[in-house]
Amino acid sequence: MKKSIYALLILVLCAISGYQISEYIPTQTDTQGKLAVSFIDVGQGDSTFIEFPGGKTALIDAGEADYSETVIAYLQSRQCKTIDYVICTHPHSDHIGGMAEVLTSFDIGEIYMPRAPHTTNTYERLLLAVQNKGLTIHTAKAGVTISVEPEVTMTMVAPNAESYEEMNDYSAVVRLTYGDNAFLFTGDAETVSEKEILDSGQSLGADVLKVGHHGSSTSTHKNFLKAVAPSYAVISCGDGNDYGHPHNVIVNRLENCGAQIYRTDLHGTVLAISDGNRIAFVTEEE
Ligand SMILES: [Zn+2]
Repeated sequence: MKKSIYALLILVLCAISGYQISEYIPTQTDTQGKLAVSFIDVGQGDSTFIEFPGGKTALIDAGEADYSETVIAYLQSRQCKTIDYVICTHPHSDHIGGMAEVLTSFDIGEIYMPRAPHTTNTYERLLLAVQNKGLTIHTAKAGVTISVEPEVTMTMVAPNAESYEEMNDYSAVVRLTYGDNAFLFTGDAETVSEKEILDSGQSLGADVLKVGHHGSSTSTHKNFLKAVAPSYAVISCGDGNDYGHPHNVIVNRLENCGAQIYRTDLHGTVLAISDGNRIAFVTEEE
């Protein structure tokens, strides 16, 4: 009886303060023992934080430099002190811009990056942060396998070639499996890389697809999507971005394949929680 009075009081307080209960994101304590994958809202960019059931963590990309504080604050809110695996998908600033600050703010285990030619200040700054931290860069490429825990594995399915015309195609593409569940994180890999992945015959099926290149029509070829066959698709992009991401053709393609779509521009940070069998989604905004 007492409990229900408290619950009612909280509801009334929420209503008065205008606080949306749907904005509630489960805390680190709530998701402990499960696989929690946070697609952090970093505007037009990508940043995915992964908390493994046994307590290790991984970060794939860190958005533009302007969003480094957002990423750091989010990780801190989830009691993160060590990032066991850092993966920089490719050197574009909307993926690695915030990474230098992130590296200096946490203890870092291993860092993975594709061997891609790039000379921007942002990239140089990241390399300097890696050096200052005393880290050695592991090359991200197809075939690299990280055994996180007995039931959890991250496998890189791309890049499959040494050089590409498009920087996006250097993207490390990571397939994460936990029990019966699988996630595919594609960075900005475009159709050239997608075709190589298909031709390589690697396992691709995934419950959750982090849609390539912010939902641009240069990625998510229909053959690739057919092979992944996701139940859920997450698009990380900025509200009213200059590129028109996500492109309508891709949103329609995802809908037609039966995937439920979550978008950081509409839903804010998106959290997927897996127990190795089922996946539940919670979003910052409705
Ligand atoms: Zn990008």
